[in-house]
Order: sequence, then C-alpha cells, then structure tokens
Amino acid sequence: FTSKLPWVGTTIFTVMSKLANEAGAINLSQGFPGFDCSPDLVALVEHYLKTGFNQYAPMTGVPALREALAQKTEQLYGVCYHPETEVTVTSGATEALFAAITAVIRPGDEVIVFEPAYDSYVPAIELNGGIPVFVTLTPPTYAIDWNTVRAKITEKTRLIIVNTPHNPTGRVWTADDLEQLAALVKHRDIWIVSDEVYEHIRFDGRPHRSLATHPVLQERTFVCGSFGKTFHITGWKIGYCLAPKELTTEFRKIHQYLTFSTVTPIQHALADYLKNPEHYETLPDFYERKRDLFLDSIRGSRFGFQPTEGSFFQTVSYQAITDESDYDLAVRLTREIGVASIPVSVFYNQKNDYRILRFCFAKDDETLLRAGERLSQL
Ligand code: PMP
Ligand code: GLN
Repeated sequence: FTSKLPWVGTTIFTVMSKLANEAGAINLSQGFPGFDCSPDLVALVEHYLKTGFNQYAPMTGVPALREALAQKTEQLYGVCYHPETEVTVTSGATEALFAAITAVIRPGDEVIVFEPAYDSYVPAIELNGGIPVFVTLTPPTYAIDWNTVRAKITEKTRLIIVNTPHNPTGRVWTADDLEQLAALVKHRDIWIVSDEVYEHIRFDGRPHRSLATHPVLQERTFVCGSFGKTFHITGWKIGYCLAPKELTTEFRKIHQYLTFSTVTPIQHALADYLKNPEHYETLPDFYERKRDLFLDSIRGSRFGFQPTEGSFFQTVSYQAITDESDYDLAVRLTREIGVASIPVSVFYNQKNDYRILRFCFAKDDETLLRAGERLSQL
C-alpha cells in the first residue's frame, strides 16, 4: 500500500495530550478549555434532544442557525450573507476548511500557506493534488512581509490560506494586512480560505478583521468559523462556512458527500444561544485576564514573550534557558516538571531553531498559576 500522505503521522496535539496524561502533567498543549460550557447551552441541547429533533438536519444546516449566523455577521462586520445560499453549517471548522480547499484546488494548483500553519491545511491541499507554497513568519512579531508574498505568486496560484487570530502565534491581522492582500488578489483568479475560528478571542482592544469586511476580499473568500472556541464546546464539532453564492454552491457539493449534514439538536440549541451577543462579547475580557494571569506567573522566569494578540495560545521563547530542540524540551518539561506544551517547529514545513513553545491558557486560574510556578523553576 502506498500512502497518499507518507509524511503524516499522529498529530502533535494527540501526541502531547497522551504524554501529558501518562505523566500526570498539567496539559497546556492541545487547545481546549479546561472548564465546562454554560449549563444554559447544555439545557437547550437537552430540550431539543427530548423533543424530537433527532433526525438528519438539512444538508446546508438548520435554517434558524444559518439565520442567526447571518444576523451575527451583519451586526459585527456589516456584511450580509444570505442564509439560504451563502451560509453552511459543518462538522467543525476542520470540515469547512477541507471542503473549501477541495472546492477550489485541482492537481498542480499552488496554495500560499503562511507558516507556522495550523496542521490540517497542508494535508487538505495535498490530497487535492495542490502544492503548498510557504511564506515563513518569524518570531517575535510574526508579521507578514508582503513583498515576499508577492514574489511567491505565480500563474498557478489559486488559493491563499489566512488565519486570524492565528494559531499558534496569536497574531491578529491589521487593516494594512487586509489592504495588502486585496491589492495582491484584485485582478487575479485567486480565492481565499480564511480560518477565523478565534474571531472572538483577541486582546488589548484589537478588533477582529474578518476578511468579510473588505469588499474585494469578501467576494473571493470562504470564511470558516467554529463554535468550539467561542462557547467552550470543542467536543461538539460544529462549525460553518460563509461565502458568496457561487463559492457556496461548490462548497456544498463537497460538504454534501463529506458528511451530508451535522448533528441536529445541537444546531437548534446554538441557534437560540447565538441570539444573545453577551455569549460571545464577554470572551475577549475573559481570556485576556487568563492570558495576563499566566504571563504574570512566568514574568520572573527566563522565558521571553510578547503578550499574545489573540487566540487562547501564548508562545514563549526559551533561548535564554537551553539549546535543546523545542520538541525535546516539550517532552522533557512534561515528564520532569509536569507541564505539557506544543513545540512550535511542528507548525513549520522548514526545519528551524527558533526555540518557541506554545501554551494554551484556556484553563482555570488555579491550573495556570500552578503551571506558571513550575515553569518559573527553569
Ligand atoms: N483552525 C484552527 C486555527 C484551530 O485552532 C482549530 C482547532 N483548534 C480548528 C481550525 C478546528 O476547529 P474545529 O474543532 O471546529 O474543527
Ligand atoms: N486546534 C487545537 C490546537 O491547536 C487542537 C485540535 C486537535 O486536536 N486537532 O491545539
């Protein structure tokens, strides 16, 4: 048997979470909240489970949820997506990303990928015969050099993958990033997949710059989102894709045969829950406090950092501590001091020695303080 993805093994998230469990370590590796979702949301799901909402949902998603998503997007970003033809509910953002990439990419097409990159993009590109073309972002700012991006665009470039707020670096796109991208794609047949799963988690007053807010970008972008991050329900795997009608039509052809539709009672519950903006407007403050608590707890240590701009990840540099590889250090810290993290080099295609670890601070305060205490021993 010849593997279609010979270089793919088990994801680092599974590897580090398993190691953390075996070592009894505090798990700040895989990104998921260490606390439960709202009981009100659970009650809504229970209600729909018990009142007969247990058969297939419509292929495109439950209408009430598509409508609630369209309304939220209009209120927040001033853009109208038609719930009938431009909003699709998926089984997590992972499915939305895969379907969007599949809708666009043919064998030989090139895709611009900013690295470090979330790990599901490249396999999706390659399974469709696409060729990832990497633009490397480097610490400490991970800012995009738009001249480099421009230089990598060719006749074969069909897609650019954007992720803001960014996993793993937390970087949030600026208005200038949007303008630069728009200028690049304006007169070309280049589509965009914008992974915005952390849209509600950004700090220090920064706005989320959805690509939907820019008319030139909006008309060629699949915006992929997820409820997992926003409502502390990563285990429910519900996401969505917003895209203009022409793109959504192609997107749905893939979605229809990937999963067909997504879990019914949860979609109804989310439609109700989403109507109250407080349920997501409180997230920046909630997570900013956790970020600051974690950073205060390692401030006296030899780790170097800049407060993360968004997402629930903080990257730290350990250059002043050791020249071990980030993978070796992540494993050692899990076993020896009982704190698991993610080595950031795994998000790069090119081998590198930036010496950065990623910590997830979506944990309760006490856990963060205990982790900080242990890390400060180094
Ligand atoms: N994109 C990014 C950047 C992520 O961090 C994640 C998961 N943490 C996903 C996509 C996948 O989202 P979902 O769990 O909804 O599939
Ligand atoms: N997105 C999560 C992270 O970055 C993990 C998701 C997964 O385990 N596949 O940690």
